[in-house]
Formats: sequence, structure tokens, C-alpha cells
Amino acid sequence: MKSLWNDNNATQYQDALGLRVYSSRLLGQDPNLVLHGGGNTSVKITETNLVGDKEERLYVKGSGWDLATIEAAGFTPLRMAHLLKLAKLEHLSDPQMVNELKTQMTDASAPSPSVETILHATLPYKYVEHTHADAIVSITNTVEGEQRIRSIYGDRVVIIPYVMPGFDLARLCAQRFATEAHDDTLGMVLLNHGIFSFADSAKLSYERMIDLVALAEDYLASKNAWGVSLAAPRPSKAPIRGQMAALRRDISRVAGFPMIVAHQNNDKGLAFAQHPEVGTLSQQGPATPDHVIRTKYMPMLGRDADGFASHYKKYFDTHAPHAKQPKTMLDPTPRVVLDPELGLCTVGRSAKDADITADIYDHTIDVILRATALGGFKALPPEHLFDMEYWDLEQAKLNQSGALPVFAGEVALITGGASGIGKACVDAMLKRGAAVIALDINADIATLHQGKDYRGIQCDVSDGLQLNSALETGIAAFGGLDMLVLNAGVFPGGKRIASLEDDEWHQVFKVNLDANLALMRECHPLLKLAPRNGRVVIMGSKNVLAPGPGAAAYSASKSALVQLMRIAALEWAEDGIRINALHPDAVFDTAIWTGEVLAARAGHYGMNVDDYKRKNLLKTEICSQDVAELAAEMCGPLFAKTTAAQVPIDGGNERVI
Ligand code: ZN
Repeated sequence: MKSLWNDNNATQYQDALGLRVYSSRLLGQDPNLVLHGGGNTSVKITETNLVGDKEERLYVKGSGWDLATIEAAGFTPLRMAHLLKLAKLEHLSDPQMVNELKTQMTDASAPSPSVETILHATLPYKYVEHTHADAIVSITNTVEGEQRIRSIYGDRVVIIPYVMPGFDLARLCAQRFATEAHDDTLGMVLLNHGIFSFADSAKLSYERMIDLVALAEDYLASKNAWGVSLAAPRPSKAPIRGQMAALRRDISRVAGFPMIVAHQNNDKGLAFAQHPEVGTLSQQGPATPDHVIRTKYMPMLGRDADGFASHYKKYFDTHAPHAKQPKTMLDPTPRVVLDPELGLCTVGRSAKDADITADIYDHTIDVILRATALGGFKALPPEHLFDMEYWDLEQAKLNQSGALPVFAGEVALITGGASGIGKACVDAMLKRGAAVIALDINADIATLHQGKDYRGIQCDVSDGLQLNSALETGIAAFGGLDMLVLNAGVFPGGKRIASLEDDEWHQVFKVNLDANLALMRECHPLLKLAPRNGRVVIMGSKNVLAPGPGAAAYSASKSALVQLMRIAALEWAEDGIRINALHPDAVFDTAIWTGEVLAARAGHYGMNVDDYKRKNLLKTEICSQDVAELAAEMCGPLFAKTTAAQVPIDGGNERVI
């Protein structure tokens, strides 16, 4: 661990808050120090308020900001005088503390201040840094953690026993600091939690953090407990998509809503899940209270939802006496699942959440292995774990999540997703909060979207091997399948029956019909496990209802597809799966309809392009987005009681009517 401070860069930041931004970002750059919104920093500044009084303000990191990318607006200003008075109270409940902090903000639009605000206020230095550095957490999560910290730092740090973050911790730290700190004190180590450093200059405060953590890393290295590794794992047995979907169904049942379950396809996660002592190591609770990650080692529990539910009931019964007052656990869902066959899976309400958990757990594995190498991982005692799971502030965080998009936690697969209607379907599903697996023969599909909730896979859906591999990759990414939009299809140039060759006929059927049969067959077992039941939308065509000359292969294949849809509706109703079809017509904002082609077609009818586009009863233009929105709605609550419907989206067509 090295200081990243650069005097030239630092001079670009003029004032005390600017330097606070600069050095906070330096801390945020090192994942061994700070991960995903973890850690917090502050600076104390005296300013004049609107009525001319001078007041000292604490600028502390606000919630929702990440140290790596924080800006001045990410620091919440609060009146120091009141914070110091609060620190002297005998007792302050979490909700009271949250209220007091809110009322002392001098900028009403600033974010909610950190739960560690009062602690920052009590430390009598201008700058304060706080991290949950891997090295500190590794050392303090061992049996002799305190002695080890003492042997590393002597009396240059104040040591604080474990107390949950909040008022009690702030008060204890203030008391210990007042009695134990002296001129050579550089920091404060919070057992099973993290470390503080402080100074009156931004640079010194930051560099003290780096120096203190570097000493801890050196200590671990000297005990052969820094560069830890795991034995090479036995590979998972493919296919895993069925197991993943079953696991996701069970987890979602416990949660009460659909969750994303992301398979972490790496050797480290798999090797840890196969570690001979994973059952004990993984069940001791989180390495730091900053990220409360409920971890489940699966083989102990079985894979059914009852297994999860009864485990939690047992947990509650065992630990209930420790609860200060009866509370309900809002979200008992595990966020990490370890299975010796599947490896490491992370769980989230969104793919992004599951991904953040994966990053955090990756570091947790290191912490556990380092502590084990040091002589034994020993995380928090069970009563603390219980308090943490029922923590007011954690619960408040859950409550803040507010209204979620309609498809939050759900997964949609769309074929032909790189352009036209398929691409618009991808957008419509992402917009509604679904994680999307998009397949297309066009390689552009891979990079269509950058978010964690998108997986674009190049795939010729008419090739069985490619399709199988794409399903494995896509389902592993998100854990299952809720919605299927069968959109990929080909529309060859017009050809009358007299000149239609077998090859062309077969080729069109291969893509428009056979591939969809394969997709339906392979996706059925997954859709059956969808937490809120599976939904399928078939992209039919106006030609099914009103065919035209010269499109025999296309019209016949789409008609067969619709017949397949009707059979599926009959067969799958018992699994709760509903399947409906759309019949779009004259959607011209797709790749095949270039300006040239459009002009030619319009000319053929003696019309201008604009009139040609609205050649329907309602004189309206049908866009890809219109079709996609309807496809997405067909998967939503509006169509909850409809299956085997065929809905035209064509502006009204006399022949169809
Ligand atoms: Zn902390």
C-alpha cells in the first residue's frame, strides 16, 4: 500500500473541502481500502452563516456517494456545536440520531449524513479518514486480534472493541479517545470493523491511513498470510441453467419477490465453495458491519424454499432473546450462496446489486483466508450478528428503496435484439427494470448496452449448439428466465410459389419456426420456475391474418409459429405460463427499410413516403417502439389473465378486421 498523494495535483484544489475531495478520491481508488460506498471521510470548516454568525461545520460523506468519485456536493455540512452536545448524551436511539443529524444540516438539499457522523465530530482534528481496510479487518477477525493490533502499532492507536456503528460506538470512541490518546496517537482501530486516522492537514491525515494500513499488510505478509490462494477447484458440471433457475425460484420465494441470482464464473468463488471448511468459515457473519451480507452455504440447507425458511425460523428462535424489542426481519434473503457444485452465486434485487455483492464478497474471501492463515477466522459473536440483521438503520435503508420498476428482479430473453423491433424490446424491458439477455446473429449485440443488467450474446438461433451455449451463459448471468420474446425472423424478398425453391422455403422455416420451437422447448423448464410465472410473446405478422402474394415462406412460417403458440398456451397453462402473439404491420423504422426502399415502395403505390407509412385506417405511423411497448405490457400485470391472444398492431387494416 503506497501513498498516491501528488503535490501538483493537490494544488489544483484550493480550499479545505477541495482537498477533502482530492484525498477521499485517493482512498477510494484502492479496493483494498474502500469498496462500493464503503468508508467515510470528513473535514471541519468554520464558516459564516446567513445571519452573520460564525459556526464550525462538519462536512462528512453523505449516503449514496462513493469515495472514488465523490464531489464537494457529496459532503453534508452539519453544525459541530450540536453534534458535540449529542455525543455527551447517555443514550440516543438510531431513529433519534437520524432525526438529530437531519435537523443540524446547514444545507437542506445535501444527502443524508453517514451513520458515523457523530464519531467524526468527536475526533479533535480537522481531517478524519475511515476505512474498512482488508488488512485491518483480516487481523481483527482473529482470536488474538487485539493483541496482534497492539503488537503492530504499540500505543500509537486507540483500540475500540466491537460495537455496532451508530451512537453507542461514537460515544465509546469519544470516551476512549479522551482517556487514551496522546501526542503520538495516529489512529484508532475498531475491532471487527475498520480503522480511523486523523490530522490537521489533508495530506498528513491521508498518509497516516496509508502508513497504518501498510503496517498491517506487512504484518500479514510476515506471517505468510497476505498472498493467500486456494487449491484449484473441480470444475462445475454443465449445464447449470436448470439448477440456477431452481435456486433462484427458492430464493425469490423466501424474499417474496423475484431476485437476480448471478453465477460468479470464476475459480476463486468455486474453490472457496469447495474449501473443506467452507461450512464454518462462511457462516460466521460479515467481516465488517459496513456490508451486511447474509451468506448461505447450501448443502447444509437443501435446495428447497422450505430449507431456507426453516433455517431462518431456527435462527430467529435461537437469537430472539437478544433482541431489544420484537421486530420483524424485513429481508431474510441470502445475498451470497456457496455451493460446491455451482460455486459462488450472488443475489440482488437488480443485476447491479448482485454485482456489487460479488465485489464485496471477493474481498471477504480474502479476509477469511488471511485470517485463517493467521491462525483462525473469528468474526462477530452471534448476538451482534442478530443485532445487525435487525438493525434500525439497515431496515431504514431497505425502506428507502421505495417503489421499484415493474420487472425489478426479473429476466427477459429477446431474440433478434440487435435492431428494429427486437432492439426496441430490449429497451422496453430494461426500462421496466428487467435484466435482459439479448441474442442476435449480429456481433453488435454484445455491446448494445453497457449496464450490468444487460447480456448481449452473438448467436445464430437456428444453430442448436450456439443456442445451448447462449442459454447457459445468459441464464448463469441472472439466474433464470421470466419472460421470452421470440422476435428473430427472416423476411426474404418477394417470390411467387412458381419460383420458390425448397432451399429457400426450408431456410425461412428454419429461422422463423424451427429455431422458435427449440427456444420454447429449452426455455420451458426455466419459465416454469419463474417466481411470478413465465410469460412469452411471439412476434407474428399481419401476414398471418392477411397474407399477400409473393411471401409464401414467410407467411406460412409465421402462421405455423402462431399455431405453435396456441398449442403452447394449452400445454403450459398448468405451469402458469402465458403466451400471446403480436401481429405488427408496416413497421418501417427497421434496418431493411432504407430511405431508398421506402421511396420505391411508396412510388409503387403512387404515394409519397409519409402517406405510405400511414397507409392504415387510423392514418398513424407504427414504430418499433410501439410494438416493443406492447410486447413488454403483454408480459406485465395488464395481461395477467390473458393467454393465446393475437393482438394486431397495424393502425387498423380492413382485411384483418
Ligand atoms: Zn465503518
